[in-house]
Amino acid sequence: MTWFLLIAVVLGTGAALVALVARRAELRRSLAGLEERSRARERGSHAARLLHPVPDLSRCIGCGTCVAACPEEGVLDVIHGQAVVVHGARCVGHGRCAAECPVGAIALTLGDLDERRDIPALTPEFEAVGAPGLFLAGEVTGFSLIRTAITHGVTVAGEVAERVAAADARRDAEVLDLVIVGAGPAGIACALEAKRRGVRAVIVEQERLGGTVTSYPRRKLVMTQPVELPLYGTLSKSTYTKEELLEIWERIVAEQQLEVLTESAFTGLDRSPDGDFLVYTSRGTLRASNVCIAVGRRGTPRKLGVPGEERSKVAYSLLDAQSYTARRILVVGGGDSAVEAALGLAEQDGNQVTLSYRRAAFNRLKARNEERVTRAIESGAIACVYESEVRAIEDDAVELAVARGGEQDTLRLANDDVFVFAGGLPPFPLLERCGVSFDPEDRPPAEVLTEQGTGFLKVVGAALACALSVLAWTVVFRDYYGLPLAERLDTDWHGWLRPKSGLGLASGVLGALLVAANLSYLARRSPRVPLRLGSLQRWMSAHVLTGVLALLMVLVHSAMQPKHTVGGHALAALAFLVATGAIGRYFYSFVPHAANGRELELDEVRARLAALTAEWDKERGAFAERVRAEIDAMVRDSQWSRGFFRRVGALLAGERRMRRALRRIESDARAADLASDQIAELTHLARRAHKEALAAAHYEDLRGIVASWRWFHRWVALLMVALVVIHVVTMLRYGGLFDGAAS
Ligand SMILES: Cc1cc2nc3c(=O)[nH]c(=O)nc-3n(C[C@H](O)[C@H](O)[C@H](O)COP(=O)(O)OP(=O)(O)OC[C@H]3O[C@@H](n4cnc5c(N)ncnc54)[C@H](O)[C@@H]3O)c2cc1C
Repeated sequence: MTWFLLIAVVLGTGAALVALVARRAELRRSLAGLEERSRARERGSHAARLLHPVPDLSRCIGCGTCVAACPEEGVLDVIHGQAVVVHGARCVGHGRCAAECPVGAIALTLGDLDERRDIPALTPEFEAVGAPGLFLAGEVTGFSLIRTAITHGVTVAGEVAERVAAADARRDAEVLDLVIVGAGPAGIACALEAKRRGVRAVIVEQERLGGTVTSYPRRKLVMTQPVELPLYGTLSKSTYTKEELLEIWERIVAEQQLEVLTESAFTGLDRSPDGDFLVYTSRGTLRASNVCIAVGRRGTPRKLGVPGEERSKVAYSLLDAQSYTARRILVVGGGDSAVEAALGLAEQDGNQVTLSYRRAAFNRLKARNEERVTRAIESGAIACVYESEVRAIEDDAVELAVARGGEQDTLRLANDDVFVFAGGLPPFPLLERCGVSFDPEDRPPAEVLTEQGTGFLKVVGAALACALSVLAWTVVFRDYYGLPLAERLDTDWHGWLRPKSGLGLASGVLGALLVAANLSYLARRSPRVPLRLGSLQRWMSAHVLTGVLALLMVLVHSAMQPKHTVGGHALAALAFLVATGAIGRYFYSFVPHAANGRELELDEVRARLAALTAEWDKERGAFAERVRAEIDAMVRDSQWSRGFFRRVGALLAGERRMRRALRRIESDARAADLASDQIAELTHLARRAHKEALAAAHYEDLRGIVASWRWFHRWVALLMVALVVIHVVTMLRYGGLFDGAAS
């Protein structure tokens, strides 16, 4: 007994220590995540433009699979135990977060489309609303990624093939079935599928084959997911170099003898009286019954419009940084293309690279690029002139206008080459002239995010059906199961229903197999195990179902009377696992949902505070800053004191501390000559910030307690597996399982 107590104390205190350390680390991570989110908001990198994830907080179980699955860095993070978008602008729409979420809590969306005038109105077949026969595919539709572009291209060609087949009798040899504008991934895939389906198609391309991929930097690694390219097979690798991809495009276009008119710019289209399209290009007019516009979103490179821009040393893309050495180079822009070009050029011998960016800080870079460029600037490998604009480009110099402390200054730099990455003039006006509508009213209603099913209803239904069957079984054999153990020996059913033989044994074996199947979910979820069969959502459903079934089978195996044996304890552990699993799957999300809701309220208060004090920044700079810092300190104190007792202390002393801080703010405000209504609003916002911070902290504490389900779930699962193994081994060796003796 003493030994037992001693071990229990050691294990108990050890577990408590581990739990406390883990909790502190979790709080630190949450705080870091929130700070990063505030920084993202300040820089504007929180908002995504194209396809991005929206976690449904009422479903998220905080497993972090989405964060691990995202190939970009910093798009998502787990804050208050749930997935939250941090740098939305870094999302390029891979969609792996949604595919990997085990509970279907992530939807991919283009955001609030009601205000967007850069997303075309299309039918599900990608046909422009109100313009029959005119299709759009690829990035121009608002969805980026090579894989998506290929899928779009194939869908359009399939739709055109069906229409062409339906109208076959009326086919005119002079009229093409399809003109495809743009030879990027969407255009090429569309042409390949058209060829496969016997559709006569021509591609019109203003530059050369390959689309945006041709303008990637040399040897850039392109990430993609497996996708079927018609007449080629599966592009199965997850990364290709730019050169590999271009080689594939070129080879397949040559092999399949696709008709590609390069260096032919599409300038517009009309409809002939008989309904065909007249497609105008810089090299002549084509006639076609269908058109697929796959021009991407880059459009034509945006020019600076400054004197000297026509010089041959000015370029709008960089194909090979290695051909530039010992040059004085200016790179204009602050996006990923500009930064990647500047970094590539700075790595070459003898180059002096200056980056000119019109903003005061980078705000939409991928995490890796931001890290690399910051390091390069700090080490002096790249000189960065923020808040600057090119004024003039001369033969051997450039002139920049620089904003310094509200004043305009001029900076002259010796220069040999200029690379401009100022974005592109979007192709939308051209598309509008062709009949494509960008009016939000014309867009079919977006899918309602919360209505997506996860298939869980079916799973719970199936589990209930199984539970009812076992209940019915128990009722049918109540005469046996109702007897005390000793009296069961004399019944006819004993040989069948006892744990060691017949059906009782079979249900035990089935239970053990179900436990093994149940645990394979962990292998599918782990990023380290290359098992990618089926969606995680289905695996999660199978995890729940096999868990419940295993419990039922083991109950039958125990003949409805578990004993104080290893097997009995394994059953108890299994029952505990099913209960904690249900807490995690169904109840856990409520509490962190509330904490994140408070966090959003706090963000709103901060935004109002920033708007209120923005005016004062000009006149009373130091005061406005002091007020915000004071309120931030108050919020931090009430929300993020780490130790448990300090948190309780902060809660008790919070009101007093807040009143003291408010008095300080008020007297400062009076000294700064603020009007009384401004002081009233300021103190009201400070009070609200404090209240929201306290509420968020309260929910975070609750969440911490509820989140312990995961901890118990994991460790008890381990214990259960150990007990099952011991039980099976003991039974095989000493249980006389196969000796046929009755017991
Ligand atoms: C720096 C960078 C990195 C990227 N990295 C990845 C990545 O790792 N993985 C990934 O999946 N995606 C990545 N993307 C996105 C991917 O490149 C695009 O989503 C994809 O190329 C879109 O294909 P598309 O065919 O729709 O358009 P595009 O590839 O843009 O092709 C459009 C074509 O239309 C032509 N065109 C335009 N206007 C006209 C006209 N008026 N007349 C005739 N032709 C015209 C253009 O010259 C171009 O060839 C990246 C994009 C960039 C900019």
